[in-house]
Amino acid sequence: MGIDAEHRRLVMATDLEIVRIPALSDNYVWLVHDPVSDETVVVDPSEAAPVIAGAAQRGWTISQIWNTHWHGDHTGGNAEIKALGATVSGPVAEADRIPTLDIGLREGDSVRIGSHVASVIETPGHTAGHIVFHMPDDSVLFSGDTLFSMGCGRLFEGNATQMYGNMQRIAALPDDTVVYCAHEYTLANARYAVVAEPENRATGDRLRTVEAQRAAGEPTVPTTIAAERATNPFLRATSAEQLAERRAAKDAFRG
Ligand SMILES: [Zn+2]
Repeated sequence: MGIDAEHRRLVMATDLEIVRIPALSDNYVWLVHDPVSDETVVVDPSEAAPVIAGAAQRGWTISQIWNTHWHGDHTGGNAEIKALGATVSGPVAEADRIPTLDIGLREGDSVRIGSHVASVIETPGHTAGHIVFHMPDDSVLFSGDTLFSMGCGRLFEGNATQMYGNMQRIAALPDDTVVYCAHEYTLANARYAVVAEPENRATGDRLRTVEAQRAAGEPTVPTTIAAERATNPFLRATSAEQLAERRAAKDAFRG
């Protein structure tokens, strides 16, 4: 099964249409459309032009922006898309760093697209106020720069204990949860993952799959909680100390 067929199969769990918009060098912006309400959300628009074009091409009007954190490669398109009528929701803890923010979110808050609900989970570490959006009824997680396919975000504003807590919470989500992260980092992550866990056959198998996908120019995202539980050395870390060691090793890794 090709990646697009696999992606279609995965998104059959929800009637939301979720479209990948590649942006900048390796960002993925996610356009989410609810055909029932005709509402469209964009998650972490790093830049406006490809997002606006992607929505227009489908006849969609963007009414909301959901931001996971303040970094420019997640919010760079906010102002231009907001000027077209969208409301910006994001972490209240980063309100001063997201000047376009309209609605500040914290742990346990929820946002909606049509009748679909996304719950906010605070995942400090990559940034101090980072949040992820979990849509339990749709089996969808927008993980920003907290969880990547076979990796986790760098610890710019937090520590390994916090990130370990995030990984534990995310690992407890249902296996079939489809994870939409914000970067195409999987190949570099997979090359490190086989060093971190040389005895894990699933990781070696996945590295070969990812190498083939990238050689063919295919995306490797979204992923699933099941796949990450099997192969992600950060989600699989058994202590904050082990996560800290692996994060430091990955930061220095030149695979
Ligand atoms: Zn970031």
